[in-house]
Amino acid sequence: MFMMLKEKFSKKPRAVVLNGNNRIMTEPGETILQAGLRQNIRLPHNCRVGGCAECKCKLVSGKVKELTESAYILSSEEMDEGYILACQSVPKTDIEIQVDRLETNGPNHEVKTIQGEIVGHNRLTHDIVRIDIALPEPLAYASGQYAELRLPGIIDQPRAYSFAVAESVAQDNSSVSFFIREVPGGEMSTHMQDNTVIGSPVSVEGPYGDFWLRKAVEPMLCVAGGSGLAPLKSLLEEAVTQNIQRPVTFLFGARTQADLYCVTDIEKLANAWPTDFNFIPVLSNEPIDSDWQGLRGFVTDGIEERVKGDEKVYMCGPPPMIDATIAALQTLNIQPTQIYFDKFLDQSHTSAPAA
Ligand SMILES: Cc1cc2nc3c(=O)[nH]c(=O)nc-3n(C[C@H](O)[C@H](O)[C@H](O)COP(=O)(O)OP(=O)(O)OC[C@H]3O[C@@H](n4cnc5c(N)ncnc54)[C@H](O)[C@@H]3O)c2cc1C
Repeated sequence: MFMMLKEKFSKKPRAVVLNGNNRIMTEPGETILQAGLRQNIRLPHNCRVGGCAECKCKLVSGKVKELTESAYILSSEEMDEGYILACQSVPKTDIEIQVDRLETNGPNHEVKTIQGEIVGHNRLTHDIVRIDIALPEPLAYASGQYAELRLPGIIDQPRAYSFAVAESVAQDNSSVSFFIREVPGGEMSTHMQDNTVIGSPVSVEGPYGDFWLRKAVEPMLCVAGGSGLAPLKSLLEEAVTQNIQRPVTFLFGARTQADLYCVTDIEKLANAWPTDFNFIPVLSNEPIDSDWQGLRGFVTDGIEERVKGDEKVYMCGPPPMIDATIAALQTLNIQPTQIYFDKFLDQSHTSAPAA
């Protein structure tokens, strides 16, 4: 057993050179991404469990131990070129990597693990609840980022949830809120639906994630589905406090009118927005004979006539919605560099169980 461990992970700290200049150190057993975040290097990332490939980078020299099979998520061309997943790779030697989208000007809040208590439970739709957690100390985050929640002794594997209220508009600095949609067969999201969770201790670790509002002047196209509204609402709330003067088109995809929520909050945002703000709910499964006057279909159906080509796109929600929207945007010549998104992956999408 000892021999196996010795073979698996280097027992020495290892140096990781990023893009030929930045240098970080990994502790034994630590992934490149964990080491980068610990040392305040904004390596691109999303799910952190090998499911989204946002953290892919090119191994220029040295050797790594991969915790899960990256062939599942990387293309054969990427594998041939030496791409690895930073969240799943533990250096076996000193290494050098090339990170294509290393941003140096993003939020750089300290990652903390804080033991809080669930103090609020409000039903937003038949399958989405808002959970409010009181914290004994403030947790700084950028709108759009997420935290990992654990229920000690009940659900010890973390699940990612995006902050639903901008830090700058939260009533005080001592609580955080999340929108949690019930996933059929899902452990955490099902557990959270019942209001008996009020009073439960909860561990909140974060902030994590690469979804935050970049400085730019171009119009914004926002696309949300289901609980993907949380980070977008939060991001737009933050933008209002910063008096950002960019036109917004916000498509919110839902199945029926019963799945729409926070509409009043978004309308308030639209009223407070200093320039054009078009909020467009799109329903995919609304009964044909209902009183719904708005758009019907998928959010992708609403994009073409609303996109000019220079927009910056911000999207959050279920992976199929994100994938379909990216495909639709590509046909409209929107470049990947114009698109920011968080896919709400769960264990059915990821190559490895949550660590
Ligand atoms: C960056 C990010 C942000 C997110 N933000 C939000 C948010 O704000 N709101 C929100 O509602 N969700 C969000 N999610 C999704 C969230 O993290 C959870 O994945 C989701 O709530 C499901 O968790 P669960 O414990 O209920 O389900 P799980 O117990 O993890 O199960 C999920 C599904 O996978 C199946 N499953 C379980 N284990 C396996 C396995 N080994 N193999 C195959 N299938 C399996 C289950 O049957 C179920 O259908 C986010 C995800 C990411 C990555």
